[in-house]
Amino acid sequence: MIRNLLVLVLLAGAVWAQQRAGDTVKTSEGDLRITPLNHAALLLEFGGKAIYVDPTGQAKYDGLPKADLVLLTDIHGDHLAPKIIADLKKPGTAVIGPPAVKEKLPETDAVANGESKTWEGIRIEAVAAYNIERGPKPGVKYHEKGRGNGYLLALGGKRVYIAGDTECTPEMKALKSIDVAFLPMNLPYTMPVEEAAACVKVFQPKIVYPYHYRGSDLKAFESALKGQPVEVRLREWY
Ligand code: ZN
Repeated sequence: MIRNLLVLVLLAGAVWAQQRAGDTVKTSEGDLRITPLNHAALLLEFGGKAIYVDPTGQAKYDGLPKADLVLLTDIHGDHLAPKIIADLKKPGTAVIGPPAVKEKLPETDAVANGESKTWEGIRIEAVAAYNIERGPKPGVKYHEKGRGNGYLLALGGKRVYIAGDTECTPEMKALKSIDVAFLPMNLPYTMPVEEAAACVKVFQPKIVYPYHYRGSDLKAFESALKGQPVEVRLREWY
């Protein structure tokens, strides 16, 4: 009886581990594992390191590894949750974010738009993330240029772009040789799926993940990219 129970528990554990296995991308230094967590939150596992992007309280972290690096894109509550960061930390955890995040979370190692940093051999470049036209009222944007960061990571020869809260900016359109891109697409804060798809056609990532998409029609995004040389990965983020 007890043995049967044990087998059941082990099986359940294996199934659970598989479920959270997420996706993998082959790199020159082993697999990059991608786990969508929620809305803007994701986990990248690479070279034995756990890199969390915008971990917030909307996701569950039970059973997930502690963070080696936390990358933060902006100051809003769906991106910056100091309590969750504290829970995920262990001795030596690095936190990287834009200067505006450092003002709210002083332990942050600040990297401004256009700057880059190397952490544990991984090059991290901060790409501007901002609204060109959308805001709560004329003259004000939801995300003013200069405040938020997207990130471009070099992981074992693969280039991974996490856009942050942004529209289809000139900085995004200018990206080259992107292997994996995470793009936001929700209104009114970022951009509609059509605009995100148009941007994908310009910078042509090999794989694109819609994220930060609450309430958006991802099928429309996928069909706008039909025939394009891009793999659209639709995943459950909510
Ligand atoms: Zn957001």
